[in-house]
Amino acid sequence: MPKDIKDIDVLIIGASASGLMCAIEAGKRGRRVIVLDHANKAGKKILMSGGGRCNFTNIDVDASNYISHNEHYCKSALSRYTQWDFISKVIEYEIPYHERDLGKLFCDDSAKDILNMLLTECKKAKVNIRLNSDIKDVEKTDDDSFLVNTTRETYASSSLIIACGGLSIPKMCASPLGYKIAEQFNHHIWPTTAGLVPFTLQPHDKAKLEVLAGISVECDVSNMRNQFKENILFTHRGLSGPAILQISSYWKTGESIHINLLPDSDIATLLILRQRQQPNVKLKTVLTGLLPKRLVAIFFEQSLLDKPLQELSTIRINEIAEELHNWSIKPNGTEGYRTAEVTLGGIDCDELSSKTMESKKVEGLYFIGEVVDITGWLGGYNFQWAWSSGWCAGQVV
Ligand SMILES: Cc1cc2nc3c(=O)[nH]c(=O)nc-3n(C[C@H](O)[C@H](O)[C@H](O)COP(=O)(O)OP(=O)(O)OC[C@H]3O[C@@H](n4cnc5c(N)ncnc54)[C@H](O)[C@@H]3O)c2cc1C
Repeated sequence: MPKDIKDIDVLIIGASASGLMCAIEAGKRGRRVIVLDHANKAGKKILMSGGGRCNFTNIDVDASNYISHNEHYCKSALSRYTQWDFISKVIEYEIPYHERDLGKLFCDDSAKDILNMLLTECKKAKVNIRLNSDIKDVEKTDDDSFLVNTTRETYASSSLIIACGGLSIPKMCASPLGYKIAEQFNHHIWPTTAGLVPFTLQPHDKAKLEVLAGISVECDVSNMRNQFKENILFTHRGLSGPAILQISSYWKTGESIHINLLPDSDIATLLILRQRQQPNVKLKTVLTGLLPKRLVAIFFEQSLLDKPLQELSTIRINEIAEELHNWSIKPNGTEGYRTAEVTLGGIDCDELSSKTMESKKVEGLYFIGEVVDITGWLGGYNFQWAWSSGWCAGQVV
C-alpha cells in the first residue's frame, strides 16, 4: 500500500444519523473506522430536526409506517435494533425527553443532546470523523478493497458504507452522491421525489386562502392511498402542518386531496338538531363554535352565514356538511427538496441484504439510512430507520 494511502477497515461516507450509528457499532467491535463528510459539522439534520428538539423515535414503530417498493425490507432491521434500544441509550445518557401526540418522542431541551450522545459514543469507540472532505471518486480495486479519493486524502478500506442521505434540503449539505455511487456499481435506483413537504396551491386557491396564514386545524386528510388525522396549517405559500406533510408522501402530481375539517363531528346531524332546538340561531354562530372565524368566512358567503338555522333546507344543510367534511383541493405542487424533510425512492432494497444492508452485487459495499428506498412517516420514524439500518451494518462491516 503506498504511504500516502490511509488503510482502514471501515470507511463511512456521511457523518449524520445512520453513519454515526454504524461507526459506533463498528468501532466497538475494534474496527478501524473513518467517517467522511463534506459538511463542516457532523449531524446537521439531527440539529435542525423536530424544530430543534429532534423527534428521535416513536413509541410505536411498524413496517406500515414506512413507504418503499419493498414493504418487507425494513422489518428485519427495525426488529433487531428497536425504538426501545435507542430509548435505552437516551436514558443511559440522561437526556430528558417527552412523548407528544401519536407516540412521538422529543428531547426536552435540544437536539444537540442526541448529537452529543452519538459523538461521545464515537469518541469512546475511537471513530475518526473527517469533516470538510469532498469525495472526488470511489473505485473497487483488484484486491477487493475500496479506494476513496477526497480533496485531502486517499483511503483504502475493505468495507465502504454509503450513509450520505437523500436530496432534501441542499442548504444542509444534501447531495446526490449516494445515488451516484450506487449507479456506478450498477444498482437500480427508484425515482426520487420530495416527501414530508408542504403543498403549494393553484393561483386562485392561493389568492383565496392566503388570508388564513397562521391558522391550524385538526383535520382528517386523505387520498386514495392513505389517511391522516393531525393538524393542517395554512401558510402564505400554501398548506403545511403534520397531516399535509404526511399525505404529501402519498401524493402524485395532478391529484386532489380530501380534507375533513370537522373529523370529530357530524355537522349535518348537528345543524338539524340545533335547527329544532334553537331555530333562530344563525349558521355562523354554530360554525364559528367549531372552526376559526376566518376559515368559516372563506368557505361560505356572509348572507348564508347570517341566516337563522330555520331558513336552511335539509338539502342546503347537506351541502354545507359536504363542503366541510369533504373539502377537495388540488395542490399546484410541493415546495420540493428546498423544504422537504425526506426523499422518497432511492436505492432498490431488492438488491441489498435486509439483515446487513450489504449490496448483493458488490461485496463490502453497504447502503444505510435515507439513501435507501425506505421513507418513514412523520413522527420519528425516519431517525429510527437511520439508527436501525446503521446499527445492523455496524455489526458486520
Ligand atoms: C428539517 C428536517 C427535520 C427533520 N426532523 C425529523 C425528526 O424530527 N424525526 C425524524 O425521524 N426525522 C426527521 N427528519 C428526517 C431525518 O433528518 C433524516 O431521515 C435522517 O437524518 C436521515 O439520516 P441519514 O444518516 O440517512 O442522512 P442525513 O442525516 O441526511 O446525513 C447525510 C450526511 O451525508 C453527508 N453528505 C451528503 N452528501 C455528501 C457528499 N457528497 N460527500 C460527503 N458527505 C456527504 C451530509 O453532509 C450529511 O452529514 C427531518 C429532516 C429535515 C430536513
